[in-house]
Amino acid sequence: MVKAIVGANWGDEGKGKITDLMAEASDIVVRFQGGANAGHTIINDYGRFALHTLPSGVFYAHITNVIGNGVALDMQKITSELRHLAEAGVPTPNLMISDRAQLLLPYHILQDTYEEERLGGHAFGSTKSGIAPFYSDKYAKIGIQVCDLFDPPRLREHVERAVEVKNILFQTLYHKPPINAEALFRELLEIISPYVGDTVTYLHQALQNGKSILLEGQLGAMKDPDLGMVPMTTSSHTLAGFGCVGAPVPPTAIHDVICVTKAYSSCVGAQTEPFVSELLGEAGAELRRRGGDQGEFGATTGRPRRVGWFDTVATRYGCMVQGATEVALTCLDVLSYLDEIPVCTAYEVDGQVTKSFPVPALLSRAKPIFTTLPGWKSDIRGITDYQALPANAKAYVDFISQEIQTPIKMVSTGPKRHEIALHP
Ligand code: GDP
Repeated sequence: MVKAIVGANWGDEGKGKITDLMAEASDIVVRFQGGANAGHTIINDYGRFALHTLPSGVFYAHITNVIGNGVALDMQKITSELRHLAEAGVPTPNLMISDRAQLLLPYHILQDTYEEERLGGHAFGSTKSGIAPFYSDKYAKIGIQVCDLFDPPRLREHVERAVEVKNILFQTLYHKPPINAEALFRELLEIISPYVGDTVTYLHQALQNGKSILLEGQLGAMKDPDLGMVPMTTSSHTLAGFGCVGAPVPPTAIHDVICVTKAYSSCVGAQTEPFVSELLGEAGAELRRRGGDQGEFGATTGRPRRVGWFDTVATRYGCMVQGATEVALTCLDVLSYLDEIPVCTAYEVDGQVTKSFPVPALLSRAKPIFTTLPGWKSDIRGITDYQALPANAKAYVDFISQEIQTPIKMVSTGPKRHEIALHP
């Protein structure tokens, strides 16, 4: 049986916490897309961690953690994440890296950096982790697969082919020094990973043997390059459905899709990105300060996140396109200081009111329409009994659930693993 845990919004919804919690009852956790450009914050008995590429099951001895073929594999980042876990006393995790995954290489990071420099004021706000060049190369068929590392002649040929293209770009468009293909080839030969394996067969056999698999998404629906806020998206598909390709598991095997969403909105990236329910000024700064476990600042970059009220238009869409079977609502405790809480329930676009998420060309003209709900003004941090939540907190959850047309089955009341209340 497969469950997917994915983001309904702009990322940073708290997927890491939910995956860490649900991993307890699973056999395998799989990352199926993205790279080290975002972080999942996990707080458990070993401490506080920001995982970037490693699946969130690495804290459990009984779990096999799979890095699927859809991931942008930065071996240096994985090695340093593993070192960091060991230093914190976490036992060496069971890890399997797909032999079909492709390598994110130093020239991807350079290209990402050069391109953001070139764009100047029009930059995408990239984390400069090389993600966009990596996926461009994959689709341009000049990517380098992990399996190539075990076949030096093939590796050499692929490196030379890719470097030829990079050097034309680097020298003529960016006016930067060329890359030495031979030196890169030699470096790649040094990569010896004991973790590489045939994850495609492994996952399909695991399913036949009745194992339970969690797919762990990175970022959220708004960042999908097809269905998100084009072009302010990431470069890999963030949607649950892509787990069928990037993990991979058969489409018919995905039993549950758990969309994670925060009780308010947060968004990272360029300021030019449309963010309809954004809360600015001192009120926004206060929500940012109080948000998450240490304020709303990027787990990978430390960048301040933009914050806003809950957006039911965007979230309903994020749940719809992923086929959410349930929602996990995180950070409800963060809103406890408010007298009243606006919720964005529709957009006005060119004088028309809509509850449907508009295409990107219209999104920047959308204005939020709010419904204001009463706050609960009491500390709910760590409450695990849903019935013990204040009536207004439960009413807030029910209102959102109705608006997004998906049952909210988990309500997270704090960043720690077991700070969660199950909705009856
Ligand atoms: P992810 O990428 O979706 O895993 O999300 P991030 O880790 O980037 O951001 C989520 C933030 O919210 C982290 O700082 C978490 O520790 C924190 N968090 C998760 N659930 C809760 C919750 O219920 N309450 C509070 N206060 N913080 C939470």
